[in-house]
Formats: sequence, structure tokens, C-alpha cells
Amino acid sequence: MQIQSPDEVDDAPPRRLWSPWRMRYVGGDAAEPGCIFCNRIGGNDDVDSLILYRAPLSCAIMNLFPYNTGHIMLVPNEHVASPEDASLDALTEIATLLPKVLRALRRVLACHGFNIGLNVGSVAGAGVAEHMHQHVVPRWNGDANFMPILAGTTVMPELIPVTYSKLRAELSRESGTDSSVAVRWVLLDRNGEYVWLNAGAELPVVRPEPDAAIWRTVIEAAVGAGAGASVRVAGWAGSSRSDKGQPALALVADEELDDLGSFVPIEKARAMLAPDERQVLAQALKTHI
Ligand SMILES: [Zn+2]
Repeated sequence: MQIQSPDEVDDAPPRRLWSPWRMRYVGGDAAEPGCIFCNRIGGNDDVDSLILYRAPLSCAIMNLFPYNTGHIMLVPNEHVASPEDASLDALTEIATLLPKVLRALRRVLACHGFNIGLNVGSVAGAGVAEHMHQHVVPRWNGDANFMPILAGTTVMPELIPVTYSKLRAELSRESGTDSSVAVRWVLLDRNGEYVWLNAGAELPVVRPEPDAAIWRTVIEAAVGAGAGASVRVAGWAGSSRSDKGQPALALVADEELDDLGSFVPIEKARAMLAPDERQVLAQALKTHI
């Protein structure tokens, strides 16, 4: 298996059937000045940067050019090219982060195995050679099927912002001191004009069982609340920074709702919600697809 870097992809045959998130890079952002990892680690919009988790010396970032769904990179915050230049503390932290990432990937994506590794130096295939990054690529039985072999193509079954929100919620739970986590969910109607509120005029919260995937528990709660069977995760609804705030997922009801029941018009909901809940709602509307 090869990890494709942006440079390598340019001359290669098409790798993905459908990858709309790549448009912003095709549009010119790929040539950003400086180091793409340092730029993201130094920024504040972790949702846009696809930073899933921040530890004091390192972080977990989703790959912008994934080989497979859920392709994550573990990156030291310091700009070093190779483990021999990194601090032992940063390397230890990354080693501690790895099992958390594996557990999160298994719960979210039900993968069967992983490729884990470092490409050090351009000659070894590193796309960004000056800032080391450890790849974690989920694998499934049968994923090396005829598509990548015959057509050089990988089918990406889920939009990156959706996978991002599911994984970030799980990593937030992994970073906690116990496996119990409170997760907010924001359910919007398909047009993003109404939001479902509890009777007490609050955004609802669930506490998933330790072994249950957070996103599944949230979907079940929304369906149980009367949203109908066609509910999907649309994106992240919590804080922009992954080291702040509790996890929150934005959901969308795909069907036209006949009975709006506990759905409240967005404008009215804004007036009813507490300030921190208004922020969660605003983020949900931003990631509403
Ligand atoms: Zn860097």
C-alpha cells in the first residue's frame, strides 16, 4: 500500500470517484505558504483544519488526501522532520495517543485492521517531509478489491466532515477520565430552518454506553424523539477548538417533516437558548450540509 501525497497525486490517475472536499485545494489553497501542519496546529479553527484532538505536545489530524476513510495522522507540535529530532516527551505522547485513536476508529468505522507507519524523508514517500507525521490508515476485509487494483480508484463512502465529527466525539471521550461522556445533539430539519428542542427549551444530551459508538447513540436518540427514520450526521456542532467544550453533533432529518412537533424555528430557538447553547446551534448551522 502507498500513501499518496498531494504532489504524487498530481500525475497519478484519478484516485477517488467523488471527493468534493478536495475542491478547496484544487482551487489554489494547496500552495499555502509555510508548513501545512504548523499552520493548522497554530490556528484556531480545528473543524476547518480537521484537527481531531489536541494533546500538549502533539495532535491527531485527519488526512486531507485520505487513502481510506478515517485516515488519521499523529503529528508532534514541534516542526521536526524525523523522530530523531523530536523530543522524547512528544514521541511518548504520540505513542500514548495511538491506542486512543485505534479505539475511536474501531468504534466509529468498525474497521478490521490498520496500517500504521512513518515515511521519513521525501525518498521514503513523505508528502510533507519537513514535519514528521505518523499515518494510521483503517483497513477492512476486502478493501483491497478490484477498484484500487484495476482502476487506481478508492471509493470514499462518507464525506470527510461527517467522519471528522464522529471521530472527534470519540476522541473527546477517550481523553476523559472515565468512559462516560455527555454529548449534545442538534437536530435540524432538512432546510436548516427548524431545530428540535427538549420540552425545557434546551438542546438534548445523551450519555452513550461505554462500548457504543457515540454517533449511533445520537441517531437512536433523535429517531426516538420522533424525528423519523431518516436522520443522518451532518457535521460537528461543538467548539471550534478540539481542546475546549463538550462534544456535539449536528444531525439533519432528510425527510420533509409533516409534524414539526418539538421543532422550533431557528430564530425563536436562538432567543430561548442559553448563550453556550446558541454557540452550539450556530456551529451546527455552519456545518449543516
Ligand atoms: Zn511544521
